Amino acid sequence: MAERDAPLVRVDGLSKNFDVSPPFLERVLARQGRTMLKAVDGVSFDIPRGKTFSLVGESGCGKSTVAKLVVGLIRPTAGSIQFEGADLASLTSRAQMQPIRRRLQMIFQDPYASLNPRWRVADIVAEPIRAHGLIEDKGAVLRRVGELLEQVRLSARDGEKFPHEFSGGQRQRICIARALASNPEFLVCDEPTSALDVSVQAQILNLMKDLQRELGLTYLFISHDLAVVYHISDYLGVMYLGRLVEWGDARAVFREPKHPYTRMLLDAIPDLEMSGRRRIPVAGEVPSPISPPEGCHFHPRCPFADDRCRREIPGDTPTATGEVRCHGIEEGRPMTLERATAEV
Ligand code: SF4
Repeated sequence: MAERDAPLVRVDGLSKNFDVSPPFLERVLARQGRTMLKAVDGVSFDIPRGKTFSLVGESGCGKSTVAKLVVGLIRPTAGSIQFEGADLASLTSRAQMQPIRRRLQMIFQDPYASLNPRWRVADIVAEPIRAHGLIEDKGAVLRRVGELLEQVRLSARDGEKFPHEFSGGQRQRICIARALASNPEFLVCDEPTSALDVSVQAQILNLMKDLQRELGLTYLFISHDLAVVYHISDYLGVMYLGRLVEWGDARAVFREPKHPYTRMLLDAIPDLEMSGRRRIPVAGEVPSPISPPEGCHFHPRCPFADDRCRREIPGDTPTATGEVRCHGIEEGRPMTLERATAEV
């Protein structure tokens, strides 16, 4: 990454295992050990200040777990998350966490579920202001709430209403106003538009871009849909079964994807860069993350897999703007569909 020297957020070797074992008695009777699910496995990336890093992949690839780890909703099994050089894992007390929490907020996928239906919008948006003790005077809090609602292109008068009086897109604007209420610098956005109609999605994405420009915000944007992140991303990371398989400058990845999985994902949407490259048809299902395939997790779906792919986990190979994890790329194998078809 060009600005790698001074990232606002640095994620390094992040891993998260979940214990998904059957109940104790059942395990003893079946003479089974514990079953661990590696939801996130050694993920590293940087996000420079004022930029957007988008993390994409199919459902179950671990991207939402990364989002929860980064905002501290769950603790990592290994690895670190640094925010402006401070390791979040080292902040153990509430007093240490509070100033960082204010600067780091999350926007969730479902604007219907994340707003308290019994609270007026003004109280919902004012809640972080009160929780962080940012403004004491009641009138000043109300004026600030009005400003925030106007910042997300709603009206200050909307503060009097309840969430059920708004459409899905308007509710997501309320969620964004609430997230902005603590004057954050970093927003983690977990599929913020996937519950919305396509036309409304574009409005919310445009609003988020405008807010980034106006307020200098840094985003970690999580999505299963590459078409959604195309206009908003500066950097793009692609996850598959808990591992980051490719990352780099977003335009470069869209124009010239290297990893066969990135190519497969891009081939499921229109050719946004109009590169005219040969397409890899989308094939196969994502295997269970409880027992992922050995070696490269992607090998059962990859038209270029060989014996090494089935045995060895690929390491990082630098690209012009990032890194890719693929034996074929590292070895310079000809990764064309003609070759793959000839070998099948
Ligand atoms: Fe395909 Fe092998 Fe590369 Fe994995 S390492 S993506 S199986 S070529």
